[in-house]
Amino acid sequence: MDDLKFGTRDKRGDWKPAKPLETAPLFVLPPQPVRLLQWLPGYIFPWNILFLAIGAALWFWLTPSAETLKTLAPGWVSYLLVRNALLVLIFFGALELRLYVKRRQGTHFKYNAKFPAEQPSDVFYFKSQNIDNAIRTFGLGVPFWTAYEVFGLWAYANGIGPWSTFAAHPIWFVVFALAIPVWHEFHFYCIHRLIHVPVLYKWIHYVHHNSVNPSPWSSLSMHPVESFLYWSDSLIHLILPSHPLLLLYHLQVTGSGAVIGHIGFDKIELGNDQGMDTHAYAHYLHHKYFEVNYADGTTALDKLFGTWHDGSKEAQARMEARYARKVAQLNQQNS
Ligand SMILES: [Zn+2]
Ligand SMILES: [Zn+2]
Repeated sequence: MDDLKFGTRDKRGDWKPAKPLETAPLFVLPPQPVRLLQWLPGYIFPWNILFLAIGAALWFWLTPSAETLKTLAPGWVSYLLVRNALLVLIFFGALELRLYVKRRQGTHFKYNAKFPAEQPSDVFYFKSQNIDNAIRTFGLGVPFWTAYEVFGLWAYANGIGPWSTFAAHPIWFVVFALAIPVWHEFHFYCIHRLIHVPVLYKWIHYVHHNSVNPSPWSSLSMHPVESFLYWSDSLIHLILPSHPLLLLYHLQVTGSGAVIGHIGFDKIELGNDQGMDTHAYAHYLHHKYFEVNYADGTTALDKLFGTWHDGSKEAQARMEARYARKVAQLNQQNS
């Protein structure tokens, strides 16, 4: 595919999309029903429907019975841990293998022309972003994921929380399934904004931001406190009527969904003239500039608080003016 039909490449070889990013027409006044209907298919396909399908497959075929889940036991807990680790290995690993190891599409649609393997740094274990990120993913990300899953399933099996069935609340379940990625992003915005407070950033969030040029393994590479906060969005299933299948889908949105923001490519090429949109650019800009795009644009929070960067020159100028004001304020305080 000719990526220059879709964007531009600068002198360093970094590629950027020509079209500015758009926020979802969800929280706009007056409501925009036509735009909403046009936006909806891209919201559902391919990623969220894939996560729902994985969640359903896990629930029907790869989760112990409610009878087993009733009592916490090392056997089924470690089974879920291994199951989730394998899932991450296969899903994240396939993307890493295709795009970063075999480099099937070279730097086509790649925001940063460099590959992390070419940039050893002392901030990482063994000076390697890939090894460091993979250790943190399997050593912390997947265990936290599993811990929240174990807690949710154990609560379900013991009747703790307003669990229900699709047959009893079909409309609510469809609405809830559609709302879960929005809730995830809202929750992520809140905890993410919190850990960008300088003292918390230096203590916690710097770990994730060590990967300035993120790749799939960066997705769940976090400080344990960030992991603890990140996965807590799934606790909503103990407050609102839900079903374990929706919980497992939600954990896919939170876990496997994290890879979408860190792919580093705008499209995955699927042939000579076909490509799949990744929606990774908003979060890539966050890794590049730190104080923009705390969320991905499904919620309107970045726009509301003036931190939305859509990739355009105007957004860049707005961000630079904001940084200049901040520096001037700090200088004034220090003088
Ligand atoms: Zn990130
Ligand atoms: Zn951040």
